[in-house]
Amino acid sequence: MSVDNKEKRIFSWGHERRFNAYSNYFRSLYGRRVQKVSIDAGFTCPNRDGTKGTGGCTYCNNDAFNPSYCQPEKSVTQQIEEGIRFHKWRYNEAESYLAYFQAYSNTYAPLDTLRELYEEALHYPGVLGLIIGTRPDCIDDEKLSYLRELSGRCYLAVEYGIESCYNKTLKRINRGHTFEEATATVEKTASYGINTGAHFILGLPGETREEMFNQVDLISALPLKTVKFHQLQIIKGTGMEKDFRDHPSDFELFTWEEYLSFFIRFLERLNPSIVVERFTGEAPPRFLTGPGWGKKRADQIVNLIEKRLEELDTWQGRLYFR
Ligand code: SF4
Repeated sequence: MSVDNKEKRIFSWGHERRFNAYSNYFRSLYGRRVQKVSIDAGFTCPNRDGTKGTGGCTYCNNDAFNPSYCQPEKSVTQQIEEGIRFHKWRYNEAESYLAYFQAYSNTYAPLDTLRELYEEALHYPGVLGLIIGTRPDCIDDEKLSYLRELSGRCYLAVEYGIESCYNKTLKRINRGHTFEEATATVEKTASYGINTGAHFILGLPGETREEMFNQVDLISALPLKTVKFHQLQIIKGTGMEKDFRDHPSDFELFTWEEYLSFFIRFLERLNPSIVVERFTGEAPPRFLTGPGWGKKRADQIVNLIEKRLEELDTWQGRLYFR
């Protein structure tokens, strides 16, 4: 639902951009730009160390998205310091930061270890809060209680990799959990009053375009604060690359034009109260195999999607129904 005034249309999320944008969400909270700084705190993952599985999810290669300053040999403080320097050089704008525990499963350790790492990040000047990326099966009541307490004194969000709403897909990509397990964790986390995020990949093998699209209603029904979407990219050396080579007809990889049309439809149906952090993924070209989209940066892609929304005079949630 939107409200017209003479100059511009203000949407239900409080600004004129045609989607509920992550950057605007933080501006509305803090009145300024807030930059995420990634951290690799040296965690592993139960889907790699044998607890849940070995080999990990078939698409996974953390090196493909870990910024160069993130190395687990460095302390959390050093990574934040180098990350801030890196972002200052690139954007020279932000003065407030969120420490993003990104690599692997960042709640997969005893609570005392987590507490020490998170508190170290929060002590860094300018760090306003934490974003913690993890798996839906790596959290429990004890950790959630601590995170609830933390979220009383800083910004805090837990982001779960869910990837698909279909168990057949989760099995094929070796996630090691079901959609129902992921849903239960998201609901529980939100019930603790913690900002809850999720990550999904569009284009996974064995899913038709219609199945990919139909996920939007399931995602819209989750108590999510934020969401990230990625198109499937085939990363060299992963199990997904082998699957792609062995069963190419099971893959409906998007061309850029196809993704643009698909994503606009998807966005029109997405719950307008969910803040959208990403439309696409951007692994560095040296990691990629299979068809790509040329040299389009994430910011260019956002501009193109916003331009298309404008041309079609549509917006996130225009066709959303409860
Ligand atoms: S994607 Fe996440 S859960 Fe899957 S293997 Fe990689 S680190 Fe583990």
